[in-house]
Amino acid sequence: MEDKNSKSLQYIEDVTTNADEVQRRVLFEILSRSANVEYLQRHGLKGHVDRETFKKVMPIVTYEDLKPDIDRIANGDTSPILCSEPISEFLTSSGTSEGERKLMPTTEEELQRRYLLYSLLMPVMSQFVPGLDKGKGMYFLFVKSEAKTPGGLLARPVLTSYYKSSHFRNRDHGHDIDPYTNYTSPNDTILCQDSYQSMYSQLLCGLCQNREVFRVGAVFASGFIRAIKFLEKNWVSLANDIRTGTLNSKINDMSVRDSVMKILKPDPELADFIEAECERESWIGIITRLWPNTKYIDVIVTGTMSQYIPTLDYYSNGLPLVCTMYASSECYFGLNLNPLCNPSQVSYTVIPTMAYFEFLPKNSKNDAYVTNSTSEPIISLNQAKNQELVDLVDVKVGEEYELVVTTYSGNTLVYYMKGLYRYRVGDILRVSGFKNKAPQFNFVRRKNVVLSIDSDKTDEVELQNAVKNATNKHLYPFGASLIEYTSFADTSAIPGHYVLYWEISQNGTNPIPQSVFEDCCLTVEESLNSVYRQGRVCDKSIGPLEIKLVENGTFDKLMDYALSQGASINQYKAPRCVKSAPIVELLNLRVFSNYFSPKCPSWVPGHKLCCTSSTIPN
Ligand code: AMP
Repeated sequence: MEDKNSKSLQYIEDVTTNADEVQRRVLFEILSRSANVEYLQRHGLKGHVDRETFKKVMPIVTYEDLKPDIDRIANGDTSPILCSEPISEFLTSSGTSEGERKLMPTTEEELQRRYLLYSLLMPVMSQFVPGLDKGKGMYFLFVKSEAKTPGGLLARPVLTSYYKSSHFRNRDHGHDIDPYTNYTSPNDTILCQDSYQSMYSQLLCGLCQNREVFRVGAVFASGFIRAIKFLEKNWVSLANDIRTGTLNSKINDMSVRDSVMKILKPDPELADFIEAECERESWIGIITRLWPNTKYIDVIVTGTMSQYIPTLDYYSNGLPLVCTMYASSECYFGLNLNPLCNPSQVSYTVIPTMAYFEFLPKNSKNDAYVTNSTSEPIISLNQAKNQELVDLVDVKVGEEYELVVTTYSGNTLVYYMKGLYRYRVGDILRVSGFKNKAPQFNFVRRKNVVLSIDSDKTDEVELQNAVKNATNKHLYPFGASLIEYTSFADTSAIPGHYVLYWEISQNGTNPIPQSVFEDCCLTVEESLNSVYRQGRVCDKSIGPLEIKLVENGTFDKLMDYALSQGASINQYKAPRCVKSAPIVELLNLRVFSNYFSPKCPSWVPGHKLCCTSSTIPN
């Protein structure tokens, strides 16, 4: 084990020390393999494989630019449009386009090398927390629904694809088990499409093996907290199963039952212990109480997930919160080499073998064509003559950049979207330092996103359209109009929910019935993207949207407050989303009535372009 770990750490040393050479080689490999690709030929690369020509001729693009090509692939065109190799499936990103998840093409991969980034996590972690290989991880991992494109390709989220791969499913059959993937949850409980059965059985197995658990986690903080809330609701039944050694009949998936029954044994002592802990009025520190050997919580709490830090601290009595990696459907980017640091200090070291990375400076002369948090580019990047993207090793400490990637399209190291060339991921990063020659970044934010509870990402334009739809349809017929509005992601209860603060003016004398505002809530939800609606309908990770009506003059008070804090009166615009506690309090003090969405918005599994293959989402 130690030998394997030191090899991995040496690998990180090598690729970060030679970051620029590695990047040059990565680009060379990508372009050599893709020489026949239509997209590159269309832009006049003509088989060139050098960085200079690539930068000169290839445009910087967004998903919208690629959409016509992606639609061709989805519709069954098998010619080498973006990649030389055939596309094997699409990965569906939580980023959206026209309200639907983005479709990212991927190819068959060399399995052993696919998980390189994952294989580096444990060696890094073991430097800080020794002995992890002696225990297990209680990780709440889930699969989501799948769909098929008209051309017959599968479309599913990257982690669903990963958990279903034989590499993941057979990870404990080899001689050399990676202890990082030694989980308390049997595969069948993770692969169960029914979210209730999956969560119940994973928690039950985690409780049965509570002394063996050394670390707990989920992908994002929101998912982990959902598991704790599920425990709050279901501990009586879970403890009962452990007492009797029988499994609740609600779990009727036979493969789940079989795999749980291999772990579940009658254990009245453990059942008493669980009941005694869960019965206590306060759930403070419940994680360390029920799983006493837990050393840290492995969840992403950077970006919008930082809103969950206080809740996690409460349930864990302040256990370290560890953010191990920064990744996406488009590309895997980097690792946190100092995983026990404070969440506010987390920085990710880019692993230069993952892709060819470029960076669009945020605060420079390029600003003319860099998007800011709320608006679209002033001039199109593709039209900009002077596209000065900075290479990986040339970024400057303290500066902010938007990440631009060029990904592999062949038999490559990792598992992500293939055939992206100078693609804007949409994340803003700040350079915090360097590991050898490779930069380390703080995740600053996702561009344009104003609201997020789970994996949903709602931008200002979507919110604006959704509010417009609701007011046009329901409010204006009553002679009322919206003076101003803002929004807030309220995570004080689980699941969190979107709150809209509305200041309205009413011309008519008749009061507006409650049902009208409830209809407004629902119309806003119906107008939001499919990731939001999936979170509402099937993941239940987002609660009903709430509209709070505020007294007239509230938004003037908000402006007064902003001016008192140094905002310029000329430039002041009401924020479309608020986060700071004093502002939320200012608004809440002026709320005179509130309304919730009366039911879930519509959502169907799959993709507009796709026909559904599996209809039991989680
Ligand atoms: P998806 O394409 O659905 O896999 O989502 C990927 C996006 O999630 C990234 O582009 C980021 O915006 C966000 N993300 C992933 N990892 C992290 C992280 N460690 N910290 C903050 N945001 C992250």
